[in-house]
Amino acid sequence: MAALRRLVSAVRASSASLHHRTSACSRSLYSPPTLDPQTDLKAAAAPDLQPLHRRGDPKGRNVQWVFLGCPGVGKGTYASRLSALLGVPHIATGDLVRDELASSGPLSFQLSEIVNQGKLVPDETIIDLLSKRLEAGGIKGETGFILDGFPRTVRQAEILEGVTDIDLVVNLKLREDALLAKCLGRRICSECGKNYNIACIDIKGEDGGPGMYMPPLLPPPHCATKLITRSDDTEEVVKERLSIYNKMTKPVEEFYRARGKLLEFDLPGGIRESWPKLLQALNIEDGDDKRSAAV
Ligand code: AMP
Repeated sequence: MAALRRLVSAVRASSASLHHRTSACSRSLYSPPTLDPQTDLKAAAAPDLQPLHRRGDPKGRNVQWVFLGCPGVGKGTYASRLSALLGVPHIATGDLVRDELASSGPLSFQLSEIVNQGKLVPDETIIDLLSKRLEAGGIKGETGFILDGFPRTVRQAEILEGVTDIDLVVNLKLREDALLAKCLGRRICSECGKNYNIACIDIKGEDGGPGMYMPPLLPPPHCATKLITRSDDTEEVVKERLSIYNKMTKPVEEFYRARGKLLEFDLPGGIRESWPKLLQALNIEDGDDKRSAAV
């Protein structure tokens, strides 16, 4: 709780700093940042931030993990399963953006334009949404988190690293030819929000290379009649999102790799095949002693 509160205020401070600097330059919130990254990151991370729970001192708090990976790889699926197993909130910044869109608040028009083109929301906006979510969770007594979809730029990673200690970054990987099919097959229950996938991916191995089979993840009858498709899961927009991932988010992998925090995980197939292997890679026993497995 205390850690989250400090993270919230620290991230808020960095967001405020970014806001201040962008408005001082009379730039629109949605114009691309033109500030010098070297000096701005220091300013963004606010001067008086205290590092939280550095590595080796995991007592007193829950895990603070990040899930990285291309659109459609399954970050939400695995992060939400792990969050239930470890008792930490799964915080997907894409969900925060969609909630904001659904609220029809003042930001929603600009956000919908950005999201529907597959572009990234400005760092300061996403940090503000994340701060609010962490603050609300802190009030409810949440500790720890599994972040999904954040950070997505090196600048976001720098800010996060400046205010808290991420224990582990799981980089989910899936062959590129399966990603588009998975995005196009994604369906969401408009009532409970659960994700399903109607795509049946069956890639035959060629020239001795491995194939891949991922069965559809079909909804139960009570969700089946309420399925919707995300507006940004069209072929054109998914291709743009994949290209933006390669340009803006790939460097985040290197950021964490250099800090020894990156766990690369190649998904071998569907959930049934991948989940036990992921737990094994994370050294988590799917059973009783969740706490020791988590830290
Ligand atoms: P997702 O559900 O993670 O695919 O996110 C949906 C959309 O929300 C993305 O395509 C972006 O427009 C926006 N978004 C989510 N997370 C971030 C982030 N960390 N930085 C910038 N934009 C984001």
